Amino acid sequence: MQYISTRGGIEPVGFSDAVMMGLARDGGLLLPECIPDVSDRLAAWAALDYPDLAFELMRLFVDLPDKDLKQLVQTSYAGFRSTEVTPVVQVGNVHVLELWHGPTLAFKDVALQFLGNLFEHILKDREQDLNILAATSGDTGSAAIYGVRGRDRIRIFVMHPKGRVSPIQEHQMTSVTDDNVHNLAVEGTFDDCQEIMKTLFADLDFKDTYELGSVNSINWARVLAQVVYYFYGAFRVMERTGAERVRFAVPTGNFGDIFAGTIAARMGLPIGRLILATNENNILARCFCEGDYSLGEVHATLSPSMDIQVASNFERYLYYRLGESPETVRILMKTFATTGRLALPFSDGESIDGLIVAGVGDTEATLQTIREFHEEHDYLLDPHSAVGVSVGRRFMDESEPMICLATAHPAKFPAAIEQATGNDLAHHEVIEALADIPTRSDVVAAEADTIRAYMVSRIGKKPDAVDDEPETVATDESELSEGEPQGVAPEQNDEGSE
Ligand SMILES: *Cc1c(COP(=O)(O)O)cnc(C)c1O
Repeated sequence: MQYISTRGGIEPVGFSDAVMMGLARDGGLLLPECIPDVSDRLAAWAALDYPDLAFELMRLFVDLPDKDLKQLVQTSYAGFRSTEVTPVVQVGNVHVLELWHGPTLAFKDVALQFLGNLFEHILKDREQDLNILAATSGDTGSAAIYGVRGRDRIRIFVMHPKGRVSPIQEHQMTSVTDDNVHNLAVEGTFDDCQEIMKTLFADLDFKDTYELGSVNSINWARVLAQVVYYFYGAFRVMERTGAERVRFAVPTGNFGDIFAGTIAARMGLPIGRLILATNENNILARCFCEGDYSLGEVHATLSPSMDIQVASNFERYLYYRLGESPETVRILMKTFATTGRLALPFSDGESIDGLIVAGVGDTEATLQTIREFHEEHDYLLDPHSAVGVSVGRRFMDESEPMICLATAHPAKFPAAIEQATGNDLAHHEVIEALADIPTRSDVVAAEADTIRAYMVSRIGKKPDAVDDEPETVATDESELSEGEPQGVAPEQNDEGSE
């Protein structure tokens, strides 16, 4: 399988190159040049356990030997706390697909445990190093850190918006003090972090010299790993109910998770509707309901991992929705970059593409849903999952059971649970074990240059970078001799979380 860019500006590359590239070199996102139709394999696949299903599905998209892929998949999912990896439980009249049985209790582990192993495999093969730069609104950071901590040939730099991720999420990230892990508390929003990331990845000299890589949801391997649980969840629910089609409700931020659902549908999985659920940060809901994709302010909500305005994976959807035309994508993304808005020609009726419908689950709906599920079913939803459930329940259909993606364990958000139920109910041993571990992070200004300097100082200078710019090097050295690059204030912090 070859991979192309949504903006049409690169020669097709293989899977391993696509994974290492992260963002395409022309600023677009990478996509497989075709999506295989597996309709005739559904019956056979329905009998497989999670790792075998993952193996069969992924092998259609990768360029690794079968035996290596099989090993990678086995290793990646062996550490999950459920033998099913992503079990489905029926709660009232919906089916909850629990995606949080990985090491950090968030659905992002499903993709990032795999990606960490995949990176290690490719780097060993190529005898290369990798410096991962990531922006996180919460769960990506810890899941990425747990995916690569202590690994050879990999360093990770994770930017989080200072004070805007939950205390537990912050603690989960900053309590990992392996030498190859760098936590950056950026004085800005998550969108600022994403913008810095885009700027640094667009600096091709820097990217090449410093072997930059990405684990954000723009990485195709993450999308691919997420396609698997749509199949797994649909198979379980179709078995149990006898239904021939299912719906999925997806709490959405960066459009990575739900995009994986659109790929599953394109591959032939019988998905009747994908329900896109946002919190008050509703750019995507507005887009799918009104055709208005325009930037607003970022609001802090109970579901911080969805406090996002620019959804980085949306470009992939646009590419397909606009007839696979890189020209059109280029023009639209340019317009969006300059004006902060797009009027999209596709808000026509119940569903704009026959698949996606959207709605907003605001704070009140989130709390109400958590309370109701607790009182009526003795089941605790985390606030992100509750957004999905609350919107999903507006789109119920008799013949198509509703599968609601549960994206985090409630113990990651105990304050919201207490606010909803009046009681301190959300606990998990993994979170409790964090309480006494010291943390480490550096506070940095929300500027690409500052982050670049920080990375250079931690990675050490590369010979190529020294050659043509002796003056820059002198400056770097003087900064280094002071211990920290300019604009970077070290922060030691060993407070417990909540
Ligand atoms: C990241 C995240 C989401 C949003 O997923 P996207 O792929 O960004 O749409 C939802 N819930 C939780 C708990 C998350 O960590």
